[in-house]
Amino acid sequence: INMSTTTTTTTKDNNSNNSNDINQIKIGVLALQGSFREHCSMIKRCGGCPIEVRNASQLEQCQGLIIPGGESTTMANIARRWNLFDALREFEDKGERAVWGTCAGLIFLADRIEESTAKQGGQELLGGIDVDVSRNFFGSQIDSFETEIPCSIPGSTENDTKCRALFIRAPAIKKVGKDVEVLARYFLSNEKKKEMNLMDVESVVVAVKQKNLLATSFHPELTSDLRWHELFMRMSKECKPFVSENRPEVRSQDEFKPLYVHPDLPIFKDNVLAKRFGE
Ligand code: GLN
Repeated sequence: INMSTTTTTTTKDNNSNNSNDINQIKIGVLALQGSFREHCSMIKRCGGCPIEVRNASQLEQCQGLIIPGGESTTMANIARRWNLFDALREFEDKGERAVWGTCAGLIFLADRIEESTAKQGGQELLGGIDVDVSRNFFGSQIDSFETEIPCSIPGSTENDTKCRALFIRAPAIKKVGKDVEVLARYFLSNEKKKEMNLMDVESVVVAVKQKNLLATSFHPELTSDLRWHELFMRMSKECKPFVSENRPEVRSQDEFKPLYVHPDLPIFKDNVLAKRFGE
């Protein structure tokens, strides 16, 4: 009798854990390049279920998608090569799912990019948010910085008027359309204005929301502040899980073998490269 009681209890526990899992919101994180692991761990800390997205079928069932920071041109190239653009567009298009872009992800979601700052020959964007973005606005890698900025996070209960923000070769939003809510700005100090030779710019927009779409030019996933991820979870909760109408075939990872596998370094006496290319 004892044993069966124990079994029943265990089964019950397992079931309730499982049903919790089912109730967890699934948030996809585009995992082609950049800070996707950090976003996944933040989603876990907020009680969600992160899913690394590298192909169209992994996007299915997600209610929200995060496009992380990294390098927007590289990410676009990989997405193109892996045939992901159509699925990403379909995910975003109907406005039934939430999408959040951080830094390079913000560039991806912008409707327009200042031409002089884009990759030469243009760069492919998903678009969706009615903003003009200036890529690498704050300068190059060594101009990256950390600061506190004023913000307003919708639905936050605490006294949320400030947040810590990390800008890593970050973009800025120069113009916003009428349906875009501004959630945070960066005010240039006199010192910064001089350094950037922008004496007439008072502030730039660094976080926006347009319906189901969110974008930040800084990196909340690299801080311990969960509020932006919690906001995104709230936005995703109202959304439908994604089921693709043009259900993509599940492609095998073998199709994506890199064209060139770099040999282990250091290479001492054997001429691995010469052998590889038959020179
Ligand atoms: N400047 C990078 C780009 O153009 C973005 C940098 C970042 O995501 N930290 O993609």
